[in-house]
Amino acid sequence: MCGIVGIISSKEVTGRIVSSLKKLEYRGYDSAGIATLVDGNINEVKCEGRVDTLEKDIGKFNLTGNIGIGHVRWATHGKPSKINAHPHSSDQVSVVHNGIIENSTILKKFLLKKGYLFKSQTDTEVIAHLVTEYLKANPLKDTIIKVLKKLNGSFALGIIFKGQNNLMVGARRGSPLAVGYGLSENYLGSDSYALKSMTNKISYLDDGEFCIVKQDEIEFFDTHGSKVNKKVMNLSKNEINNDKGDYKYFMEKEIDEQPSTIKSCINEYVDKYNNQINIYNFPWKISSIKSVMLIGCGTAFHSCLIAKYWMEQNTTLDVSVDIASEFRYRKVRFKKNCLYIVVSQSGETADTYAALDLCKKNKMKTCAVVNVVESSIAREADLVLPIYCGQEVGVASTKAFIGQMLVLYILSTKISFDQKCITKREYQAKIKNLLTLSNTAQKTLKLDQKIFNISKVFANSKGTMFLGRGYSFPIALEGALKLKELAYVHAEGYPAGEMKHGPLALIEEGMPVVVLAPRDEHYKKTISNMQEVIARGAKVLLITNKNKDEVISENVWEEIKVDKLDNELIPFLMTIPLQKLAFYSALEKGYDIDKPRNLAKSVTVE
Ligand code: GLU
Repeated sequence: MCGIVGIISSKEVTGRIVSSLKKLEYRGYDSAGIATLVDGNINEVKCEGRVDTLEKDIGKFNLTGNIGIGHVRWATHGKPSKINAHPHSSDQVSVVHNGIIENSTILKKFLLKKGYLFKSQTDTEVIAHLVTEYLKANPLKDTIIKVLKKLNGSFALGIIFKGQNNLMVGARRGSPLAVGYGLSENYLGSDSYALKSMTNKISYLDDGEFCIVKQDEIEFFDTHGSKVNKKVMNLSKNEINNDKGDYKYFMEKEIDEQPSTIKSCINEYVDKYNNQINIYNFPWKISSIKSVMLIGCGTAFHSCLIAKYWMEQNTTLDVSVDIASEFRYRKVRFKKNCLYIVVSQSGETADTYAALDLCKKNKMKTCAVVNVVESSIAREADLVLPIYCGQEVGVASTKAFIGQMLVLYILSTKISFDQKCITKREYQAKIKNLLTLSNTAQKTLKLDQKIFNISKVFANSKGTMFLGRGYSFPIALEGALKLKELAYVHAEGYPAGEMKHGPLALIEEGMPVVVLAPRDEHYKKTISNMQEVIARGAKVLLITNKNKDEVISENVWEEIKVDKLDNELIPFLMTIPLQKLAFYSALEKGYDIDKPRNLAKSVTVE
């Protein structure tokens, strides 16, 4: 995780490093720091907590400089504290690091024997001392090659050197790193977003590469030190506004944006005039794909789970789903006629990237469903299907989840038609329904006040459950995840039919339980399961959809009804009240909604 920024310029850099760190705070926010060279000497300011605090401290110390590196941390080794905040410096170099050095204990022993003293508990500090040690007998470039060879694990690094106002070094293995090109200045950044206010020209380091960044020149090298030529890319324009506008929280804004992000995404894939789905550059014959493996983490994994239901329902594909951190270490039997679909909002999720890499190494067909199209995952996959929802800032994913489901639904519908599993009429009916989704999502947002009132009970409960069958089961998982992430309430998502096999023992008097029971083929069964939890004292919030035949469910505590819509699309509507429930529960408790504790947005460590 974590965010890295580096700037080398003829002008002052401190203020701009701080602004870029603010943009990167979604990647980590437990501590922050910056180091610059002043008259060739390393000066650093670090703090526990947010970049706002860092900014004040920088003001107090009047930190200046024309070259500097900054960092926002998501601790892996050593608790969040000022001493563990990056950069980590020796008397010769200063380092910012994203990732984990797996052999740091061994390297530390070696360095302690050499007389180096350690100030922090981080794995990163070994890098500063190792560079210092190798610099004694080697020129800078050879030092970097040798140090990188010694490091196991994953890293993106930014390094500045005492007395060397004219250069900084960037390196990566596993974790992403971008470089940006400016006028008489150049940049390093964890992602392009950090650099967007300064340049639209960027390159990405490939795995194992490092670079020497000067004011007017950037040189790239492979692991062995041979020069590498890099493509310069022009960044795409960000069409969706990244400010909070009138909202207090990004999450609230991003939930409310969903009707418009649904529309933007559909516009990219659906040709309304010819009533068809277009997936350009689809590189394979449909008949060559017999099965699909969907891979993701967290919320993205839930979107994969729901896609399994759609694909099994509508295509002849054999569909499997896996969690990326499990997939990458399993003895997977790769199948030539399988399409491996990886899903990640940031396109940088370390485990998902590793899963994709594994598929590529085994020469499999790969497809990436991502939000960030300049990301590592997007660059690696054979086919990229963007979700077109604009930047998502809130750490707990909302509009990206809807976007991931949407793209997977569109893909499933397209395959289903191409495989001739549905007729043209059915295909066009599905598209027509899809085109109404944005409006019905807009209406669902209006259920706000009711959820606000209910949320107090969830916020103050000691635990809760989310139950659903069929399409509603992955949505139950996602609803529970949102409540955990934001309101820190223990929440379990369960298939409603599975309750009697154990979890029912947890139900006690007054426990709030969410039951997702749309009027689909599972409705009656789910309602029976609901009665079983009510009988044991649960206060049930039933989320269903409007229907002419109004069967009133007895003894329900509260009921929310979303609009009537094609059963396959109901999961989109069911998701919205659950997002709001988590949001209001966190609000009730006064928690930091956009930056929940212990979490970060772009999970670039495994
Ligand atoms: N492993 C390093 C630490 O704990 C870097 C973590 C990060 O990527 O923020 O300090």
